[in-house]
Amino acid sequence: MVYFVGAGPGAPDLITVRGKNLLSRADVVIYAGSLVNPQLLKETKEGCRIYNSALMTLEEVIQVTESTEKEGKTTVRLHTGDPCLYGAVREQMDMLDDRNIAYEICPGVSSFGAAAAALEMEYTLPSVSQSVVITRMAGRTQVPDRESVAAFAAHRSTMVIFLSAGMLGRLSRELIEGGYEPDTPAAIVYKASWPEEKSVVCTVGTLKEKAEEQGIMKTALIIVGDTVRQTDYERSKLYDPGFTTEYRKGSE
Ligand code: SAH
Repeated sequence: MVYFVGAGPGAPDLITVRGKNLLSRADVVIYAGSLVNPQLLKETKEGCRIYNSALMTLEEVIQVTESTEKEGKTTVRLHTGDPCLYGAVREQMDMLDDRNIAYEICPGVSSFGAAAAALEMEYTLPSVSQSVVITRMAGRTQVPDRESVAAFAAHRSTMVIFLSAGMLGRLSRELIEGGYEPDTPAAIVYKASWPEEKSVVCTVGTLKEKAEEQGIMKTALIIVGDTVRQTDYERSKLYDPGFTTEYRKGSE
């Protein structure tokens, strides 16, 4: 059996209980060495074989998994954050399907949640924005044209931008071209939940400058939109004293 496990954003106690249990029972662990906290490997049992996927191709990952399977043993493929975002898990699942190897996915805490926690922020403020666009700038991996940053910026919703900390000048230009004012609030969160976490609140126009000041070039999320300000929102209906819900009778 193969388990794709979300390791969480960095802090070793932000893996799920299920993920930790799977890790402690695994015979083989293949972890994404670029971003998974190596401290999590302490959870593995004696004799567990550990591979760093940052040094491997997809074929090599599958080959290790397949030979583990032939021995009747269990592999944990440990991905950063939650495997469903920029995790390259589909291609692994397809190759396992081809080989009739069973797998299961254990979700994890994505870095976009850890970044909101670092900023003490709610991404969805009533009357400010009720939507979160999770995207990235095109790099070596292309992004479909209809999903350009500028196209999403036209909605002026909350945006969480992955994998783009090294191209903040271009990101600012695309955000502004798409419809955000240069003084729209923005934030940079570096290594959310790690001991070296840093967060900076700035504006769409000053992203590059602020990241340079802090020496941030990678492992960061960019959050953009009026919600970053965390003011000028309407109170929720759910907790309004006058509002009746399925569970509670309102006062009026
Ligand atoms: N599956 C992961 C994302 C993998 S893509 C998740 O759910 O979080 C890798 C990108 O995620 C990095 O380039 C960075 O933009 C972001 N990232 C991952 N961990 C991070 C963290 N602890 N703090 C800030 N950004 C992080």
